[in-house]
Amino acid sequence: MNCDELQASIGTYIEKQLTADQRSAFEQHLAGCSSCQGSFQTATEMSCQQLADFVSDYLEKSLPAEQREVFERHLNMCPPCVDYMDSMRTTIDAGRMACEGENAANVPEALVQAILKAKRASS
Ligand SMILES: [Zn+2]
Ligand SMILES: [Zn+2]
Repeated sequence: MNCDELQASIGTYIEKQLTADQRSAFEQHLAGCSSCQGSFQTATEMSCQQLADFVSDYLEKSLPAEQREVFERHLNMCPPCVDYMDSMRTTIDAGRMACEGENAANVPEALVQAILKAKRASS
């Protein structure tokens, strides 16, 4: 396994999806290669589970800059998490669209008037 191959399979390794052979080739290379150790550490700063917990914050841009960087570094190394984020983004966008659709839905004028009347009556 060379450096490129190792870096391309870090995500798969973290997800424990490598075959036993690939895994041992991966670990052998990693043990002897400081540049790959650096990439590996970067990818494992945040686990896939942690990343999954942060995805919605990330997409809502409410993640602190520091975590955001770690998050993005992990994403660069981990294709399964990129897939996960894409599917979350789709879900969130769909949810938001449904929500906006509801707000914009035609609220019957009679209902609006009834609410306004009730408000006036109570004050
Ligand atoms: Zn290497
Ligand atoms: Zn990951």
